[in-house]
Amino acid sequence: MKRRMAKNDLLRHLHQERLSLLRALGNLADESGASLYLVGGVVRDLLLKREIWDLDLTIEGDGIAFARLVANQYGAGLAVFERFATARLTFLDGLKMDLATTRRESYAQPALLPTVQPASIEEDLSRRDFTINAIAVQLNPHRFGRVLDPYGGQRDLHACIIRVLHAGSFHDDPTRIFRAIRFEQRFGFRLERTTSRLLTQAASTNLIQRLSGPRLQNEILLLLAEHDPVRAIARLAQLKLLRFLHRRLRYTKNVRQVVTAVPKALVWWARRFPASEIDRPIVYLMALLSESSPAVAASVIRRLALSREQAKHVSAGRSWVDRALRRLTGKETIRPSQAYRLLADFSDEALVLLLSKQVCKQQGVGLILLKRRLVAHMKNRTVKTALTGRDLQAMGLEPGPRYKIILGKLLDARIDGMIITEAEERVFVRKWLGNQKVRNEFR
Ligand code: ATP
Ligand code: MG
Repeated sequence: MKRRMAKNDLLRHLHQERLSLLRALGNLADESGASLYLVGGVVRDLLLKREIWDLDLTIEGDGIAFARLVANQYGAGLAVFERFATARLTFLDGLKMDLATTRRESYAQPALLPTVQPASIEEDLSRRDFTINAIAVQLNPHRFGRVLDPYGGQRDLHACIIRVLHAGSFHDDPTRIFRAIRFEQRFGFRLERTTSRLLTQAASTNLIQRLSGPRLQNEILLLLAEHDPVRAIARLAQLKLLRFLHRRLRYTKNVRQVVTAVPKALVWWARRFPASEIDRPIVYLMALLSESSPAVAASVIRRLALSREQAKHVSAGRSWVDRALRRLTGKETIRPSQAYRLLADFSDEALVLLLSKQVCKQQGVGLILLKRRLVAHMKNRTVKTALTGRDLQAMGLEPGPRYKIILGKLLDARIDGMIITEAEERVFVRKWLGNQKVRNEFR
């Protein structure tokens, strides 16, 4: 079923405006005496007829100077990364375009970032991760649409195969281990036999341990940000890669069940609370660590150099969630305000984890009850007391820690439906103060 690609076939799948822009940039490159190419993932996605968002271009010439020229001509935003000879353009309509100088990379030491030098497009393609990502399409007018595919990327795309370009690839850059899994799972491809052997080999060494925290974090979170991370996580476990997060991290049956329940919980959550923006990768990470001890979770947080915000979510995972879940779905009745207090410190991510844990218990009644409680909780979050600290002061109350207690009581009474109006709040405060006074006098 092999079919030679006619020159302009591939680019025809682009939107008309994008196509015109690429033509214009090809002309501009010609005027500067340089060859310009569309390259990498975007070419792969065009061949797979997937939707294209950002454009990756590479130029045999001075990438940064060319990016400046384009930015001036189109009034696009420009960010320059001198060290990698790349620039990012943001066009007025929001289109993002990465522009790089074609380059050669050398790895002084495995797992560290390479040093880069300008080189030909052929050399630039030869440093890439997989054949399917090593295809370029020329944009200069006399060769517009010419496909450069020296490693058989189109053949492998047709055969649904992920293949490295050389035997030392994973050794040079172990992030490619995670990238291989990402593309394999995203496209439903398989690893070519030798590639699979090389990957298993590289995964069995300690190469990944040499990756810096931010680089490992990037790979893990990208994997967890995929459309269906559940299979990717299972694949990490199968390839014994979870040990690079922590040597004691296991993909037990329980953990698998929680992870598998996350997509369902996310769907329900998004439908119910469309305004809540969930950090999905973090929820999956929380699920993965849901049976780990706090010490293991803390160690994973350090290894991945997670931000303070992310760390807060992840470390909240275990003990609180289990306790809250027991009380919220238990036989004992609890007041709405008690349910609210149980969850008050939970982030939305932690609430989704809570739900996932209940989803995988497959107890119909408990799940319905919990969902109801979550809906009530999200509503209760918007409940406010009419009185403020200033009002309490006006009522003759000395400012102090008591304010927090009184306002908390008011909020609870509102949530429980015992107070509706401001007048009732005032009565409540006076009564409460009276009781306090009596109590103090009896002491
Ligand atoms: P995605 O759709 O996930 O963005 P992508 O293939 O575009 O996939 P990017 O990380 O955006 O991946 O990188 C763009 C291109 O740069 C890749 O297609 C590949 O050619 C090259 N590349 C990226 N990372 C590596 C790497 N670690 N080693 C070699 N080449 C890489
Ligand atoms: Mg990309």
